[in-house]
Amino acid sequence: MHIILLGAPGVGKGTQAKLIMEKHQIPQISTGDILRAEVQNETELGKKVKAIMDKGELVSDELMLQIIEKRLKQPDCQKGFILDGFPRTIPQAEGLDEILVKLGDINLKAIDIAVPDEEIVKRLASRRICSQCGTPYNLLVNPPQTDDICDVCGGAVIQRDDDKEETVRKRLSVYRENTEPLIHYYKQKGLYFRVDGLQPIEKVNTDIDKLLQN
Ligand code: AMP
Repeated sequence: MHIILLGAPGVGKGTQAKLIMEKHQIPQISTGDILRAEVQNETELGKKVKAIMDKGELVSDELMLQIIEKRLKQPDCQKGFILDGFPRTIPQAEGLDEILVKLGDINLKAIDIAVPDEEIVKRLASRRICSQCGTPYNLLVNPPQTDDICDVCGGAVIQRDDDKEETVRKRLSVYRENTEPLIHYYKQKGLYFRVDGLQPIEKVNTDIDKLLQN
């Protein structure tokens, strides 16, 4: 089962990816998490991408395709995977198609979690993330049980630098320009499915599950 979660920043892709991962035992691959780990570890790659991420812009397609190809070749991806935050451009989607051909399984569903812009800006202002394990939180709908401490690993729960309002607006416009065209791309291939992301987390998850069973 190969799943792409589409949708703007803040629609709940990470939260849904974690739920699908638990239920279906396939890994969540978040390119944002991969890049943030590189930045945190101050690797060469991390140094290259930090300024781009802080501005809310996109890392180059070439670099992203190298990262994703390497990751999808790992043994834990053999049964399938959930892509969260990738692809984000048409060239990335085309590159992914080629990688899937090489991997020998082109079976794919692109699931779009749809949420209006005003709601996204509100949600991102209250979004937090565990600085250690990346578990997502939202102070309004699913806060950590103890303030600022991750329920899963006990790490510090923080606000991402790129969740500050100005960067959020930039990321939304980058999404509209570069990533929204993917809706058309996957519609044409008959692989596009949409769920209403304004519903409670559990209901969004049930809707996604129904799509995965069909
Ligand atoms: P995310 O956590 O998915 O919102 O990603 C955080 C940031 O990482 C984005 O704003 C981009 O700067 C970068 N990034 C993550 N995934 C990609 C991708 N597929 N293509 C280009 N840049 C990406």
